[in-house]
Amino acid sequence: MTAVSKAVCGHPAVARAMLGGGAAGLAEARLSNVKRLRQAGVTCPITLIRTPMLSEVGDVVQLCDASYNTEISVIAGLAAAALLQNKVHDIFLMVEMGDRREGIVPQELGHIGQHVMDTPGVTLKGIGANFACLSGIAPTAAKMQALTALANDVEGQCGPFLQTVSGGNSANLDWAFGARTTGRINDLRLGEAILLGVDPISGDQIGGLMQGAFTLVVEVIEVDAKYVRRSESCTDPKMARIRHITDTSEARRIILAIGHQDTDAAGLSMPVGATVCGTTSDHLIIGTEDTALCVGSELRLQMNYSALMRAMAAPDVQTSLRHDRQGPRAHDANGSNKHLALV
Ligand SMILES: *Cc1c(COP(=O)(O)O)cnc(C)c1O
Repeated sequence: MTAVSKAVCGHPAVARAMLGGGAAGLAEARLSNVKRLRQAGVTCPITLIRTPMLSEVGDVVQLCDASYNTEISVIAGLAAAALLQNKVHDIFLMVEMGDRREGIVPQELGHIGQHVMDTPGVTLKGIGANFACLSGIAPTAAKMQALTALANDVEGQCGPFLQTVSGGNSANLDWAFGARTTGRINDLRLGEAILLGVDPISGDQIGGLMQGAFTLVVEVIEVDAKYVRRSESCTDPKMARIRHITDTSEARRIILAIGHQDTDAAGLSMPVGATVCGTTSDHLIIGTEDTALCVGSELRLQMNYSALMRAMAAPDVQTSLRHDRQGPRAHDANGSNKHLALV
């Protein structure tokens, strides 16, 4: 299992916890996150799972042990950079199997694999596929069998033993737990399942995993905001779609100091009895029957993957780790609360 730390922007403590939990290595989508991990002293194998930018191949070779690739020109760039650095960079070829995001079409895999084998500075470490990201194509047993067959074909065509055949992401877990045979697939790249404990396809909790590892703490900045009729509030018809409840509700309207710039508001789960009225760049307006909330109160919200990922990347959301004495603290030097804290 390769743990994917991109949703926490390569947060070193989270990555270490993943490794402590048994991950064989880490995978990252962005080089900036890999830099953060390396600067924090993380030395495990790190694989770049988004195909590298041609402009960053030197850093990729320096910081990552391997990368997923789909473009011959990028592989050539990596190879040249590796030769300059006296290294051999491991290449995974990503195969397109229906999700229609990145990948090489299966018919071309053998010939591109051969090309990698013939290029000094790089070596073919494995192949991988990705599912349920762009088009929601699920990784079925049939797809996994097809990937196994492709691994065998590539070996037949261009020689090397493929050390790793990576079947996909958290969406593959259902298959992995239920499979009678896993064939050649000996790796999954898991992020969401580890961080949030949910199956991304069904949304169900994965047995035994905690779902509350991350909490978004937000501060109330206005209460009893004026009751506004829907017809008056939605001057722009396009805006109507972000209203999840009508403004005829009798609930108190409360404004929280968080907005699109900080998270994916649609991915926040509200406390019981609270509903999202709308979100702007910097405000989240909710309706609630909780009469105890006042200006300065903190609300603790759970996040889905997209809300978590945006919150972790937002400059105004402070990340605090529970039980981490060296980490940033939830209160600053004069004891006042920070507006936002991801605990
Ligand atoms: C993000 C990503 C993953 C991890 O996906 P999760 O759903 O978080 O498990 C795996 N592989 C690739 C290529 C990715 O981009």
